[in-house]
Amino acid sequence: MHHTSSLEISTSAYLQNVEFIRSRIGVKPVISAVVKGNAYGHGIAQLVPIAEQAGVHHFSTFSSDEAREVLKNSSQPREIMIMGMLHLDEIRDLILLDIQFFVFDFERLEQAIEAAKTLKQKAKIHVEVETGFRRTGFEWDDREKLLKLLQDNHSHLELKGLCTHFAGAESAQNHTRILSQIAHFERYKGFFSQNNLHFERLHTACSAATLLFPETHMDLVRVGIAGYGFWPTRETFELIKNQLLPENRNPLKRLLTWKTQIMSLKKVNAGDYVGYGKSYQAHNDMMLAIIPVGYSHGYGRNLSNHGQVLISGIYCPVIGTVNMNAVAVDVSHLIHPQAGEEVILIGNQGENEITVGSFAETSDLVNYEMLTRLPSQIPRIIVD
Ligand SMILES: *Cc1c(COP(=O)(O)O)cnc(C)c1O
Repeated sequence: MHHTSSLEISTSAYLQNVEFIRSRIGVKPVISAVVKGNAYGHGIAQLVPIAEQAGVHHFSTFSSDEAREVLKNSSQPREIMIMGMLHLDEIRDLILLDIQFFVFDFERLEQAIEAAKTLKQKAKIHVEVETGFRRTGFEWDDREKLLKLLQDNHSHLELKGLCTHFAGAESAQNHTRILSQIAHFERYKGFFSQNNLHFERLHTACSAATLLFPETHMDLVRVGIAGYGFWPTRETFELIKNQLLPENRNPLKRLLTWKTQIMSLKKVNAGDYVGYGKSYQAHNDMMLAIIPVGYSHGYGRNLSNHGQVLISGIYCPVIGTVNMNAVAVDVSHLIHPQAGEEVILIGNQGENEITVGSFAETSDLVNYEMLTRLPSQIPRIIVD
């Protein structure tokens, strides 16, 4: 079947990103590839084998459906960890599938213990503690009750991890909050170890913490966005840029290239309106190329009259509104544009590049959003 566009996922870029992350953390910490949101839009099925090639055999997902998708596409040895949503009635299945999961409340913990008892097989859990993010995690006041449950049920539980998540490590304005979270995490750690309760791995770091706060590396880092070749924020990059060797000033490489082709060409005359309504009126006689990608494919309406694409290595601006399935671009300045010609929506062509960041007007955080909005139906193709 033909699709209107395709996404190429670069293996060598991922290998390079992992190498860079490894150079920052040293040999000890395990790298867990965070593959929630369909591997940040890259495709779990494609990303997992690439990660394995890079020597990464630990995967973090948000939900149980994603965990099953990782399972299907990975090989032994592997560890799969659910950081967020699962249904209590599927805990049994998850234990049988050898899938690990966060526990952040007593209900889930009790269900895990019950399921493990009936199965006579240990539940592999990561105890998430609240340190200041205030989304999920056991409260400090819960610690005695938590300790007792974990101790009483040690034969049903494998304590794979003690963990927390930072509230915005990618931005200096959150610095004190992050430092206080680190300190708070240390208190939990001290409490459990004084009571002789040990966890296989302590882990707290996302990409930004991995890059900026060495004290957060501990035994495992949960790396999402940096693995895909993006700085969590421009600020993160600015902060560590000076620590980089001049010949390696841009060590993170984007994996993703988004391609389509010209569907058809259209001549318009000066004064003609283009597309729906009056959002664009031609000032001159123009040649437009119609591209078969629109907001239903993740090419946002915010790019109406704003976005650009590359054809023959030359920037071509989006004209008028982005439609559901199509967009018009101005190709008047190209010498001989042709239907079927390659169009780059994200990526390089010749000397020029369209970045994911150029899809957003303001916040760097939109990198995450833009990537995860890429529909799973667009074919992902692994390239070198
Ligand atoms: C998403 C997520 C990460 C990874 O975050 P990045 O900024 O993409 O590296 C790590 N830990 C948890 C709990 C997450 O939800």
